[in-house]
Amino acid sequence: MAFSIHHLRIRQQILLVTLPPLFVLLCAVALLFYAYWMAEHSNRATRRSLESVAQSEQILRHVTEMRLAVRGYLITRDPATLGPYEDNSATILSEFATLRELHSDRPDEVATVDTLQHEVSRWQTEWASPAISALARGGTPDIPQLLAESDRRLAPTRRRMLDLLDADRAGNVVALREMEQQMRRMLVVALGVAALVAVVIFFVSREVTHLLEQPIRELIEASERVSRGDFQLLLPPPADNEFGVLSQSFSHMTTALRKEREELAALNKFSEAVTQCTSETEIYEHILYYIRERFRPRQVIIFRLNTAENFLEAAASLQPLPTEVRDWPVIPEPHNCKAVRMGRRFRVNDVVAEPLCPAKFVPPSEGSYYCGPLIAGGVIIGAVRVEGIKDFWTPERESLLESYLSGAATGLSNLRLLEATKQQANVDELTGLYNRRFLEEYARKLLAMARRKVQPLGILMMDLDHFKEFNDIYGHETGDRILRHFAKTASRAIREANLAARYGGEEFVVVLPETGAQACLLVAERIRLTVERMVIPSGTEKPLPQLTVSVGIAVYPEHGQGLEEILQAADKALYESKRAGRNRTTLYVPQEEAAS
Ligand code: GH3
Ligand code: MG
Ligand code: MG
Repeated sequence: MAFSIHHLRIRQQILLVTLPPLFVLLCAVALLFYAYWMAEHSNRATRRSLESVAQSEQILRHVTEMRLAVRGYLITRDPATLGPYEDNSATILSEFATLRELHSDRPDEVATVDTLQHEVSRWQTEWASPAISALARGGTPDIPQLLAESDRRLAPTRRRMLDLLDADRAGNVVALREMEQQMRRMLVVALGVAALVAVVIFFVSREVTHLLEQPIRELIEASERVSRGDFQLLLPPPADNEFGVLSQSFSHMTTALRKEREELAALNKFSEAVTQCTSETEIYEHILYYIRERFRPRQVIIFRLNTAENFLEAAASLQPLPTEVRDWPVIPEPHNCKAVRMGRRFRVNDVVAEPLCPAKFVPPSEGSYYCGPLIAGGVIIGAVRVEGIKDFWTPERESLLESYLSGAATGLSNLRLLEATKQQANVDELTGLYNRRFLEEYARKLLAMARRKVQPLGILMMDLDHFKEFNDIYGHETGDRILRHFAKTASRAIREANLAARYGGEEFVVVLPETGAQACLLVAERIRLTVERMVIPSGTEKPLPQLTVSVGIAVYPEHGQGLEEILQAADKALYESKRAGRNRTTLYVPQEEAAS
């Protein structure tokens, strides 16, 4: 799946969650702009109203100054007093124009301003100018009447002007109050919006944190449990976003890990079981059991490589082998087996379609098979064939089976080494005969068997005559050679079923199962005579003097019940032989018999 950061679902979810607060924030900003605009507008209206008041006051003052200037001139007849009248006459029109402009948005007030201007102009043209001209021409007008006329004309104008001023002032106060109220309302709205934004941000951040934190925390907890070896996963329910994908892949990974662990545990159990086996047959049984449990195969055949006789022998199998090969279940030429020849696995996925192993040992008629060599310490000791359904083998299964085979091969090899070591521990190094420890152990078993079968068991104890002298005269090495030669000769003189052992320095014991006193005497005599005739190679021109042996015989059950008792009896009989002149055989005679 192509993966791009732009397609992250969690991103979309976070965006969806954060869009509403963004919208609220935008609304708040718009509201604040509106409040600013309102304040600005209201401010401008107030300013204009104030300017209008100032302009009205100025016009009123100038009109008053004009009236007073004309009045002064009429009383004093001094032209200098007319200064303010002339100055203000020049500017009064423009001042009215400004006032008119300031009231332009209210037509009724514009009309009032026009009326005022008209009345002032009429006062100028119809009263002030004629009065000034008449006086300048040297006339004698009725001053009090003139002044009364002026006041009559200007009085309504001044009143109207004052009314306009009052209206402006009142409007101003209203506008200020309105602005104040507006500001207060705006403040409340702004506070409300801020609170709303705060609440929304709180919930959104909680939601986003939950969205991000919850699955991460659950994944962390799960991974901690896995690291502690607890594979019982309690993962969050599958989410439709990247955390869901992550959680699922984590779950797959853990399942794979758990399987691997279980397989490893089974493999360990197998290896442990194999190391505890005391025979190859037991190991074969374990191999068959574990392969059956793990792979559910159709057939498993374990081959054992017999190097001495150069063949591969089917040592064990899961299902019984066909009758035609049961008597002689071997592959005559081991190199025909590909696994043995190549030292690595040979696999056939479909026996119908692919070439089979040239060994052709009861090949399956359908399905697949895997044949792996058993290799221990670089040496091939056998092979195992596992048959299954068609196309059964995957690299994982092969690898697992190889682990089992490797464990089995090690187990088999260890067992063989142990056997060899045990063998060494039982054998006397100098003569190659069994040693005393093994003799006692084995003789006890033979004695138990004789007791069970109610059969006799004979024991011959032999001691070389005057052996010390041989050592003293010819040296210790020659002595050793004589011991070896004697051991070989005595072994040849007894049957394979009989057991010969070196009991001490130059003392030997032969155990004869199912042999009574008379037969024992015959065997002992045969040995004694053979030794007597024995020629020991000296390695020099001068031959060694004749070696002889003395023998004592004791027999179960006549001469004792336990092994120690019989050995002691044989030793006593041997002592008798020595005492009687050596190179002879004596059967033990119990003391009461000897005394009688
Ligand atoms: P006897 O006829 O009374 O048995 O006389 P003997 O000389 O054999 O006397 P004894 O049995 O006491 O002597 C045993 C001798 O065997 C002593 C020792 O030097 C010798 N001997 C024991 N073990 C070995 C061995 O492993 N190699 C050699 N070369 N000599 C050994
Ligand atoms: Mg001795
Ligand atoms: Mg001796």
